Amino acid sequence: MTLDDAIAMDAADPLRAMRERFVLPDNVIYLDGNSLGALPRTTAVRVAEAVTLQWGDGLIRSWNRHDWIGAAKRVGGRIAPLIGAEPGEVIVADSTSVNLYKLIVAALKARPGRHTILSEPGNFPTDLYVADGAAWSVGDAQVRTLPVAEIVAAIDDDTAIVMLTHVHYKSGAMLDMAAITAAAQAKGALVLWDLSHSVGAVPVDLNGCNADLAVGCGYKYLNGGPGAPAFLYVAERHHAALRSPLSGWMGHAAPFDFEDGYAPANDIGRFQCGTPPILALAALEEGVALFDEVAFDTLVAKSRQLSDAYIALVEARCGDQGFTLVSPRDAVRRGSHVSFAHPQAYAICQVLIDRGVIGDFRAPDVLRMGFTPLYTGFADVWRAVEILRDVMVTGAWDAPAYHARNAVT
Ligand SMILES: *Cc1c(COP(=O)(O)O)cnc(C)c1O
Repeated sequence: MTLDDAIAMDAADPLRAMRERFVLPDNVIYLDGNSLGALPRTTAVRVAEAVTLQWGDGLIRSWNRHDWIGAAKRVGGRIAPLIGAEPGEVIVADSTSVNLYKLIVAALKARPGRHTILSEPGNFPTDLYVADGAAWSVGDAQVRTLPVAEIVAAIDDDTAIVMLTHVHYKSGAMLDMAAITAAAQAKGALVLWDLSHSVGAVPVDLNGCNADLAVGCGYKYLNGGPGAPAFLYVAERHHAALRSPLSGWMGHAAPFDFEDGYAPANDIGRFQCGTPPILALAALEEGVALFDEVAFDTLVAKSRQLSDAYIALVEARCGDQGFTLVSPRDAVRRGSHVSFAHPQAYAICQVLIDRGVIGDFRAPDVLRMGFTPLYTGFADVWRAVEILRDVMVTGAWDAPAYHARNAVT
Protein backbone atom coordinates (compact mmCIF):
# COMPACT_ATOMS: atom_id res chain seq x y z
CA MET A 1 0.00 0.00 0.00
CA THR A 2 1.44 3.35 -1.04
CA LEU A 3 0.38 6.66 0.48
CA ASP A 4 -1.72 7.28 -2.64
CA ASP A 5 -3.43 3.92 -2.20
CA ALA A 6 -4.11 4.74 1.44
CA ILE A 7 -5.59 8.12 0.58
CA ALA A 8 -7.79 6.52 -2.08
CA MET A 9 -8.94 3.84 0.38
CA ASP A 10 -9.85 6.52 2.91
CA ALA A 11 -11.80 8.43 0.26
CA ALA A 12 -13.76 5.27 -0.62
CA ASP A 13 -14.25 4.21 3.03
CA PRO A 14 -17.99 3.93 3.87
CA LEU A 15 -17.13 4.70 7.51
CA ARG A 16 -15.16 7.85 6.71
CA ALA A 17 -17.85 10.18 8.01
CA MET A 18 -17.70 8.54 11.44
CA ARG A 19 -14.25 9.99 12.02
CA GLU A 20 -15.78 13.45 12.25
CA ARG A 21 -17.96 12.23 15.10
CA PHE A 22 -14.92 12.00 17.36
CA VAL A 23 -12.69 14.59 18.96
CA LEU A 24 -9.21 13.63 17.78
CA PRO A 25 -6.28 15.94 18.52
CA ASP A 26 -4.31 17.37 15.60
CA ASN A 27 -0.96 15.78 14.92
CA VAL A 28 -1.90 12.59 16.70
CA ILE A 29 -2.34 9.18 15.10
CA TYR A 30 -4.32 7.37 17.72
CA LEU A 31 -3.76 3.62 17.66
CA ASP A 32 -4.80 2.86 21.21
CA GLY A 33 -8.59 2.84 20.98
CA ASN A 34 -8.47 -0.75 22.21
CA SER A 35 -7.22 0.54 25.56
CA LEU A 36 -9.08 3.85 25.85
CA GLY A 37 -11.51 4.74 23.07
CA ALA A 38 -11.59 8.31 21.73
CA LEU A 39 -14.13 10.93 22.81
CA PRO A 40 -17.33 11.06 20.71
CA ARG A 41 -18.30 14.69 20.01
CA THR A 42 -21.79 14.28 21.43
CA THR A 43 -20.48 12.94 24.74
CA ALA A 44 -19.37 16.30 26.07
CA VAL A 45 -22.82 17.76 25.34
CA ARG A 46 -24.66 14.78 26.77
CA VAL A 47 -22.62 14.74 29.98
CA ALA A 48 -23.00 18.50 30.41
CA GLU A 49 -26.75 18.10 30.06
CA ALA A 50 -26.83 15.25 32.55
CA VAL A 51 -24.89 17.41 34.99
CA THR A 52 -26.60 20.79 34.63
CA LEU A 53 -30.16 19.90 33.68
CA GLN A 54 -30.73 16.44 35.04
CA TRP A 55 -28.67 16.70 38.21
CA GLY A 56 -28.55 20.47 38.75
CA ASP A 57 -32.15 21.25 37.97
CA GLY A 58 -33.92 17.91 38.15
CA LEU A 59 -32.17 16.80 41.33
CA ILE A 60 -33.54 13.57 42.74
CA ARG A 61 -36.61 13.80 40.50
CA SER A 62 -34.41 12.74 37.57
CA TRP A 63 -34.35 9.13 38.76
CA ASN A 64 -37.87 8.94 37.34
CA ARG A 65 -38.10 11.94 35.05
CA HIS A 66 -34.95 11.10 33.07
CA ASP A 67 -35.12 7.37 33.71
CA TRP A 68 -31.83 7.25 35.59
CA ILE A 69 -33.18 4.15 37.28
CA GLY A 70 -33.53 2.39 33.92
CA ALA A 71 -30.16 3.44 32.48
CA ALA A 72 -28.18 0.31 33.39
CA LYS A 73 -30.64 -1.99 31.59
CA ARG A 74 -31.24 0.46 28.76
CA VAL A 75 -27.56 0.80 27.88
CA GLY A 76 -27.06 -2.93 28.39
CA GLY A 77 -29.87 -3.48 25.89
CA ARG A 78 -28.05 -1.30 23.37
CA ILE A 79 -24.83 -3.29 23.80
CA ALA A 80 -26.73 -6.60 23.37
CA PRO A 81 -26.93 -6.58 19.53
CA LEU A 82 -23.16 -6.03 19.32
CA ILE A 83 -22.55 -9.34 21.10
CA GLY A 84 -25.40 -11.50 19.81
CA ALA A 85 -27.50 -11.24 22.97
CA GLU A 86 -31.09 -10.29 23.73
CA PRO A 87 -31.59 -6.91 25.43
CA GLY A 88 -32.78 -8.54 28.68
CA GLU A 89 -29.57 -10.54 28.97
CA VAL A 90 -27.11 -7.65 29.30
CA ILE A 91 -26.75 -5.01 32.00
CA VAL A 92 -24.19 -2.27 32.57
CA ALA A 93 -22.74 -2.36 36.06
CA ASP A 94 -19.53 -1.95 38.04
CA SER A 95 -16.15 -2.66 36.43
CA THR A 96 -15.11 -5.67 34.40
CA SER A 97 -13.14 -6.88 37.42
CA VAL A 98 -16.16 -6.70 39.73
CA ASN A 99 -18.41 -8.33 37.15
CA LEU A 100 -15.93 -11.18 36.82
CA TYR A 101 -16.11 -11.67 40.56
CA LYS A 102 -19.90 -11.71 40.62
CA LEU A 103 -20.17 -14.21 37.78
CA ILE A 104 -17.34 -16.52 38.90
CA VAL A 105 -18.80 -16.86 42.39
CA ALA A 106 -22.32 -17.28 40.99
CA ALA A 107 -21.07 -20.00 38.64
CA LEU A 108 -19.06 -21.84 41.34
CA LYS A 109 -22.16 -21.89 43.54
CA ALA A 110 -24.26 -23.15 40.64
CA ARG A 111 -21.90 -26.13 40.13
CA PRO A 112 -21.66 -27.70 43.60
CA GLY A 113 -19.20 -30.57 43.78
CA ARG A 114 -16.98 -28.93 41.15
CA HIS A 115 -14.03 -26.91 42.37
CA THR A 116 -11.90 -25.79 39.43
CA ILE A 117 -11.82 -22.56 37.46
CA LEU A 118 -9.91 -23.28 34.26
CA SER A 119 -8.13 -20.47 32.46
CA GLU A 120 -4.99 -19.78 30.49
CA PRO A 121 -1.67 -18.46 31.80
CA GLY A 122 -1.11 -14.99 30.42
CA ASN A 123 -4.81 -14.15 30.49
CA PHE A 124 -5.43 -10.48 31.35
CA PRO A 125 -4.07 -10.12 34.89
CA THR A 126 -7.26 -8.90 36.54
CA ASP A 127 -9.14 -11.95 35.26
CA LEU A 128 -6.69 -14.30 36.97
CA TYR A 129 -6.43 -12.17 40.11
CA VAL A 130 -10.20 -11.94 40.48
CA ALA A 131 -10.58 -15.68 39.85
CA ASP A 132 -8.06 -16.23 42.64
CA GLY A 133 -10.06 -13.95 44.96
CA ALA A 134 -13.34 -15.60 44.02
CA ALA A 135 -11.90 -19.06 44.72
CA TRP A 136 -10.59 -17.81 48.06
CA SER A 137 -14.00 -16.33 48.98
CA VAL A 138 -15.89 -19.49 48.11
CA GLY A 139 -13.28 -21.54 49.96
CA ASP A 140 -13.41 -24.89 48.30
CA ALA A 141 -12.17 -23.90 44.85
CA GLN A 142 -9.00 -23.27 42.89
CA VAL A 143 -7.76 -21.68 39.69
CA ARG A 144 -5.90 -23.89 37.24
CA THR A 145 -4.19 -22.45 34.18
CA LEU A 146 -3.21 -24.38 31.08
CA PRO A 147 -2.12 -23.35 27.58
CA VAL A 148 -5.28 -22.65 25.66
CA ALA A 149 -4.72 -25.58 23.29
CA GLU A 150 -4.84 -27.95 26.28
CA ILE A 151 -7.91 -26.53 27.97
CA VAL A 152 -10.64 -28.47 26.20
CA ALA A 153 -8.96 -31.80 26.94
CA ALA A 154 -8.53 -30.83 30.59
CA ILE A 155 -12.20 -30.09 31.29
CA ASP A 156 -13.51 -32.77 33.61
CA ASP A 157 -16.14 -33.34 36.28
CA ASP A 158 -14.27 -31.07 38.68
CA THR A 159 -14.42 -28.11 36.28
CA ALA A 160 -17.01 -25.60 37.38
CA ILE A 161 -16.06 -22.79 35.01
CA VAL A 162 -13.90 -22.23 31.98
CA MET A 163 -12.93 -18.55 31.99
CA LEU A 164 -11.27 -17.19 28.87
CA THR A 165 -10.75 -13.90 27.08
CA HIS A 166 -12.19 -14.09 23.57
CA VAL A 167 -9.56 -11.78 22.01
CA HIS A 168 -6.26 -11.92 23.89
CA TYR A 169 -5.23 -8.48 25.10
CA LYS A 170 -1.61 -8.93 24.14
CA SER A 171 -1.47 -11.22 21.12
CA GLY A 172 -4.85 -10.31 19.64
CA ALA A 173 -5.55 -14.02 19.07
CA MET A 174 -9.25 -14.83 18.91
CA LEU A 175 -10.57 -18.07 20.38
CA ASP A 176 -13.25 -20.31 18.91
CA MET A 177 -16.13 -19.38 21.18
CA ALA A 178 -18.60 -21.90 19.76
CA ALA A 179 -16.27 -24.89 19.95
CA ILE A 180 -14.91 -24.19 23.44
CA THR A 181 -18.36 -23.42 24.81
CA ALA A 182 -19.81 -26.65 23.41
CA ALA A 183 -16.90 -28.74 24.69
CA ALA A 184 -17.15 -27.29 28.20
CA GLN A 185 -20.90 -27.66 28.37
CA ALA A 186 -20.65 -31.28 27.22
CA LYS A 187 -18.66 -31.89 30.41
CA GLY A 188 -21.12 -29.98 32.57
CA ALA A 189 -19.05 -26.82 33.05
CA LEU A 190 -20.10 -23.21 32.54
CA VAL A 191 -18.10 -20.85 30.33
CA LEU A 192 -17.35 -17.22 31.13
CA TRP A 193 -16.12 -15.13 28.20
CA ASP A 194 -14.31 -11.83 28.65
CA LEU A 195 -15.22 -9.67 25.65
CA SER A 196 -13.19 -6.59 26.63
CA HIS A 197 -11.11 -6.62 23.44
CA SER A 198 -13.95 -7.95 21.27
CA VAL A 199 -17.04 -5.83 21.76
CA GLY A 200 -17.40 -3.18 19.10
CA ALA A 201 -14.55 -4.55 17.00
CA VAL A 202 -15.14 -8.18 16.04
CA PRO A 203 -18.24 -10.33 15.45
CA VAL A 204 -19.51 -11.90 18.66
CA ASP A 205 -22.56 -14.17 18.71
CA LEU A 206 -23.12 -15.22 22.31
CA ASN A 207 -26.53 -16.76 21.79
CA GLY A 208 -25.46 -18.33 18.50
CA CYS A 209 -22.72 -20.07 20.52
CA ASN A 210 -25.15 -21.00 23.31
CA ALA A 211 -22.90 -19.00 25.68
CA ASP A 212 -23.50 -18.97 29.42
CA LEU A 213 -21.79 -15.87 30.80
CA ALA A 214 -19.77 -12.91 29.58
CA VAL A 215 -18.30 -9.61 30.73
CA GLY A 216 -16.68 -6.72 28.90
CA CYS A 217 -15.30 -3.22 29.09
CA GLY A 218 -17.07 0.05 28.34
CA TYR A 219 -14.02 2.24 27.78
CA LYS A 220 -12.27 0.38 24.95
CA TYR A 221 -13.97 0.03 21.54
CA LEU A 222 -17.29 1.20 23.02
CA ASN A 223 -15.76 4.64 23.64
CA GLY A 224 -17.48 5.12 27.00
CA GLY A 225 -14.68 7.18 28.57
CA PRO A 226 -11.99 6.52 31.19
CA GLY A 227 -13.27 4.13 33.84
CA ALA A 228 -16.62 3.72 32.06
CA PRO A 229 -18.82 1.11 33.69
CA ALA A 230 -18.58 -2.40 32.25
CA PHE A 231 -21.30 -4.83 31.17
CA LEU A 232 -22.19 -8.39 31.95
CA TYR A 233 -24.24 -11.00 30.11
CA VAL A 234 -26.07 -13.94 31.61
CA ALA A 235 -28.00 -16.20 29.22
CA GLU A 236 -31.66 -16.01 30.06
CA ARG A 237 -31.86 -19.71 30.87
CA HIS A 238 -29.51 -19.10 33.82
CA HIS A 239 -31.24 -16.07 35.32
CA ALA A 240 -33.19 -17.97 37.94
CA ALA A 241 -30.34 -20.23 39.06
CA LEU A 242 -27.45 -17.78 39.29
CA ARG A 243 -27.22 -15.35 42.16
CA SER A 244 -24.78 -12.52 42.63
CA PRO A 245 -22.62 -12.70 45.77
CA LEU A 246 -22.75 -8.89 45.91
CA SER A 247 -26.41 -8.82 46.85
CA GLY A 248 -26.90 -5.09 46.98
CA TRP A 249 -30.20 -3.29 47.03
CA MET A 250 -30.18 -2.45 43.31
CA GLY A 251 -30.27 -6.17 42.55
CA HIS A 252 -33.28 -6.68 44.80
CA ALA A 253 -36.67 -7.54 43.30
CA ALA A 254 -38.15 -4.37 44.83
CA PRO A 255 -35.42 -1.98 46.00
CA PHE A 256 -37.86 0.69 47.06
CA ASP A 257 -39.86 -1.60 49.33
CA PHE A 258 -36.89 -1.31 51.71
CA GLU A 259 -37.40 -4.80 53.06
CA ASP A 260 -34.89 -6.40 55.43
CA GLY A 261 -34.65 -9.67 53.54
CA TYR A 262 -32.84 -10.07 50.23
CA ALA A 263 -34.89 -11.33 47.29
CA PRO A 264 -33.08 -11.08 43.96
CA ALA A 265 -34.81 -9.55 40.96
CA ASN A 266 -36.08 -12.24 38.60
CA ASP A 267 -34.21 -10.82 35.60
CA ILE A 268 -30.74 -9.54 34.64
CA GLY A 269 -31.26 -6.77 37.21
CA ARG A 270 -30.20 -9.21 39.94
CA PHE A 271 -26.60 -8.68 38.87
CA GLN A 272 -26.60 -5.02 39.83
CA CYS A 273 -25.24 -4.20 43.23
CA GLY A 274 -25.37 -0.55 44.29
CA THR A 275 -26.50 2.75 42.80
CA PRO A 276 -25.38 3.03 39.16
CA PRO A 277 -22.95 5.79 38.05
CA ILE A 278 -25.41 7.96 36.12
CA LEU A 279 -22.95 10.45 34.64
CA ALA A 280 -20.66 7.67 33.44
CA LEU A 281 -23.65 5.79 32.01
CA ALA A 282 -24.63 8.88 30.03
CA ALA A 283 -21.14 9.01 28.51
CA LEU A 284 -21.15 5.29 27.75
CA GLU A 285 -24.56 5.53 26.08
CA GLU A 286 -23.22 8.10 23.61
CA GLY A 287 -20.32 5.83 22.71
CA VAL A 288 -22.59 2.82 22.25
CA ALA A 289 -25.17 4.81 20.26
CA LEU A 290 -22.66 5.43 17.46
CA PHE A 291 -22.83 1.75 16.58
CA ASP A 292 -26.52 2.16 15.64
CA GLU A 293 -25.34 4.14 12.64
CA VAL A 294 -22.95 1.62 11.13
CA ALA A 295 -23.34 -1.76 9.49
CA PHE A 296 -21.32 -4.09 11.68
CA ASP A 297 -20.02 -6.11 8.70
CA THR A 298 -18.53 -2.94 7.24
CA LEU A 299 -16.82 -2.21 10.52
CA VAL A 300 -15.36 -5.70 10.77
CA ALA A 301 -14.17 -5.66 7.16
CA LYS A 302 -12.38 -2.36 7.74
CA SER A 303 -10.82 -3.56 10.98
CA ARG A 304 -9.30 -6.51 9.10
CA GLN A 305 -8.09 -4.34 6.23
CA LEU A 306 -6.45 -1.85 8.57
CA SER A 307 -4.65 -4.46 10.60
CA ASP A 308 -3.59 -6.43 7.51
CA ALA A 309 -2.21 -3.20 6.02
CA TYR A 310 -0.25 -2.49 9.21
CA ILE A 311 1.35 -5.95 9.24
CA ALA A 312 2.26 -5.74 5.57
CA LEU A 313 3.76 -2.25 5.96
CA VAL A 314 5.77 -3.06 9.09
CA GLU A 315 7.20 -6.13 7.38
CA ALA A 316 7.94 -4.20 4.17
CA ARG A 317 9.37 -1.03 5.73
CA CYS A 318 10.85 -2.30 9.01
CA GLY A 319 11.45 -5.93 8.02
CA ASP A 320 15.13 -5.81 8.95
CA GLN A 321 14.61 -4.06 12.30
CA GLY A 322 14.07 -7.06 14.56
CA PHE A 323 10.28 -7.10 14.87
CA THR A 324 8.47 -10.43 15.24
CA LEU A 325 4.75 -10.70 14.63
CA VAL A 326 3.02 -11.97 17.77
CA SER A 327 -0.55 -11.77 16.47
CA PRO A 328 -2.14 -14.35 14.19
CA ARG A 329 -1.45 -13.54 10.56
CA ASP A 330 -4.96 -14.54 9.55
CA ALA A 331 -7.24 -11.56 10.21
CA VAL A 332 -10.23 -13.83 10.84
CA ARG A 333 -8.43 -15.27 13.87
CA ARG A 334 -7.44 -11.89 15.25
CA GLY A 335 -9.02 -9.00 17.09
CA SER A 336 -8.62 -5.40 15.97
CA HIS A 337 -5.14 -4.92 17.40
CA VAL A 338 -1.77 -6.15 16.21
CA SER A 339 1.30 -6.86 18.32
CA PHE A 340 4.91 -7.14 17.30
CA ALA A 341 7.60 -8.22 19.74
CA HIS A 342 10.87 -6.30 19.84
CA PRO A 343 13.54 -6.25 22.58
CA GLN A 344 13.34 -2.44 22.66
CA ALA A 345 9.54 -2.26 22.45
CA TYR A 346 9.24 0.00 25.50
CA ALA A 347 11.60 2.70 24.24
CA ILE A 348 10.23 2.47 20.70
CA CYS A 349 6.72 2.98 22.03
CA GLN A 350 7.81 6.07 24.02
CA VAL A 351 9.48 7.76 21.08
CA LEU A 352 6.48 7.00 18.89
CA ILE A 353 4.20 8.66 21.44
CA ASP A 354 6.54 11.66 21.44
CA ARG A 355 6.10 11.83 17.69
CA GLY A 356 2.31 11.62 17.89
CA VAL A 357 1.82 7.93 17.18
CA ILE A 358 0.00 6.60 20.21
CA GLY A 359 0.06 2.86 20.65
CA ASP A 360 1.09 0.98 23.74
CA PHE A 361 3.66 -1.31 25.24
CA ARG A 362 2.78 -4.53 27.00
CA ALA A 363 5.44 -6.22 29.11
CA PRO A 364 7.86 -7.70 28.48
CA ASP A 365 8.48 -6.82 24.84
CA VAL A 366 5.27 -6.12 22.92
CA LEU A 367 4.48 -3.07 20.81
CA ARG A 368 0.71 -3.11 20.42
CA MET A 369 -1.32 -1.03 17.97
CA GLY A 370 -5.11 -0.93 17.96
CA PHE A 371 -7.13 -0.14 14.83
CA THR A 372 -10.50 1.35 15.59
CA PRO A 373 -12.47 1.16 12.36
CA LEU A 374 -14.77 4.02 13.40
CA TYR A 375 -11.99 6.59 13.31
CA THR A 376 -8.69 5.12 12.12
CA GLY A 377 -7.84 5.68 8.45
CA PHE A 378 -5.51 3.90 6.05
CA ALA A 379 -3.32 7.01 5.70
CA ASP A 380 -2.94 6.98 9.51
CA VAL A 381 -1.56 3.46 9.28
CA TRP A 382 0.78 4.39 6.45
CA ARG A 383 2.11 7.46 8.31
CA ALA A 384 2.49 5.56 11.58
CA VAL A 385 4.67 2.94 9.91
CA GLU A 386 6.81 5.60 8.19
CA ILE A 387 7.40 7.22 11.57
CA LEU A 388 8.22 3.82 13.05
CA ARG A 389 10.71 3.25 10.24
CA ASP A 390 12.35 6.59 10.90
CA VAL A 391 12.59 5.84 14.62
CA MET A 392 14.26 2.53 13.82
CA VAL A 393 16.71 3.56 11.12
CA THR A 394 17.85 6.65 13.03
CA GLY A 395 18.08 4.78 16.34
CA ALA A 396 16.00 7.59 17.89
CA TRP A 397 14.61 5.19 20.49
CA ASP A 398 18.03 4.85 22.09
CA ALA A 399 17.93 8.00 24.22
CA PRO A 400 17.86 7.71 28.03
CA ALA A 401 14.54 9.54 28.32
CA TYR A 402 12.79 6.82 26.33
CA HIS A 403 13.95 4.05 28.64
CA ALA A 404 12.47 5.54 31.85
CA ARG A 405 9.30 3.67 32.84
CA ASN A 406 6.04 5.55 33.44
CA ALA A 407 3.50 4.36 36.01
CA VAL A 408 0.97 3.58 33.26
CA THR A 409 2.11 1.93 30.05
C1 LIG B 1 -9.31 -4.09 29.81
C2 LIG B 1 -9.59 -5.43 30.38
C3 LIG B 1 -10.06 -5.57 31.69
C4 LIG B 1 -10.21 -4.35 32.56
O1 LIG B 1 -10.86 -4.56 33.75
P1 LIG B 1 -11.22 -3.29 34.68
O2 LIG B 1 -11.97 -3.87 35.78
O3 LIG B 1 -11.99 -2.34 33.81
O4 LIG B 1 -9.94 -2.66 35.09
C5 LIG B 1 -10.33 -6.84 32.16
N1 LIG B 1 -10.15 -7.92 31.37
C6 LIG B 1 -9.70 -7.82 30.10
C7 LIG B 1 -9.53 -9.04 29.28
C8 LIG B 1 -9.40 -6.57 29.57
O5 LIG B 1 -8.93 -6.47 28.34
